[in-house]
Amino acid sequence: MNPKIPRVRFAPSPTGDLHIGNARTAFFNWLYARHFGGRLILRIEDTDQERTTKAFEDNLLEDLKWLTLDWDEGPEREGSVGPYRQSERLALYESFLKILIKEERVYPCYCTEEELELERTALLSRKIAPRYMGKCRNLTLEERRRLEAQGRKPTYRFRVQPGTIAFQDRIRGLMRFEGEAIGDFIIVRSNGIPAYNFAVVIDDHFMEISSVIRGEDHLSNTAIQLMLYEALGFAPPEFAHHSLILGKDRTKLSKRHGSVSVREFREKGILPEALLNYLALLGGSIGEGREVCPVEEIIAAFSLDRAGKSGAIFDEDKLVWM
Ligand code: GLU
Repeated sequence: MNPKIPRVRFAPSPTGDLHIGNARTAFFNWLYARHFGGRLILRIEDTDQERTTKAFEDNLLEDLKWLTLDWDEGPEREGSVGPYRQSERLALYESFLKILIKEERVYPCYCTEEELELERTALLSRKIAPRYMGKCRNLTLEERRRLEAQGRKPTYRFRVQPGTIAFQDRIRGLMRFEGEAIGDFIIVRSNGIPAYNFAVVIDDHFMEISSVIRGEDHLSNTAIQLMLYEALGFAPPEFAHHSLILGKDRTKLSKRHGSVSVREFREKGILPEALLNYLALLGGSIGEGREVCPVEEIIAAFSLDRAGKSGAIFDEDKLVWM
């Protein structure tokens, strides 16, 4: 594969209707791929079995098609391409869990939900930011066996080393996180299902993603993911965290602000071009005060650097209804 061709991805979790904030992330990735002649990969992150539904996935694909945001790669499915689904890649994640166990980069943790909740409450009452304090970090083989004999199924936690994790974000500049504040995090749950950060690192590596473009709510996940890149011996991609869409009260846009899903705007009769223009305008990737412009112009004008550091305020009244 040509390393010079930019490879980006949109990786939604089908746990609800496509939020316009996620649609904007999809659009930025699509614009990036189309502007630079790159490839966009669609990856369905469907490992949360309790919240994921087939209906949400179908709606998501339909919404992306309605928005005309097409993707370029994935397994062959009924004569069309992709998307990838994490639920179909569990064996791959498991093979890397085995490697990390062998190298003692992870350890089994037998703490129950109740025990973790007690620890959380105790830390909060001492005004310490909650994190796992490493109770199972140094269990002997005998102690592990005893806990397993009680019927406890372990999660697997990553041994976080003390120190600073720093990275240069393409939009936000130098970012720094302290390992101590993060604490040993779970990479595989007790039901064998990988946690988001673990699956994402393996997928982004094998899908040869060159730039991860996503919302700034994932900044601290990037610190976690960088630790996993290092442990797995993978070279990390470039990261670009764009601002989130905020409501008029400057809090994260949610249902209480009104219509927030692509589906709701579709049902209200807005045209896809109008919604895309509005999303581009919010990101500052096209100039303000313009009439709806063709998507080709948005592609040509797109620049990640203009995607903006500050929150984009969503004002439904400013959407052009046609
Ligand atoms: N499934 C994650 C989400 O929907 C993806 C985040 C990412 O792009 O890594 O938030």
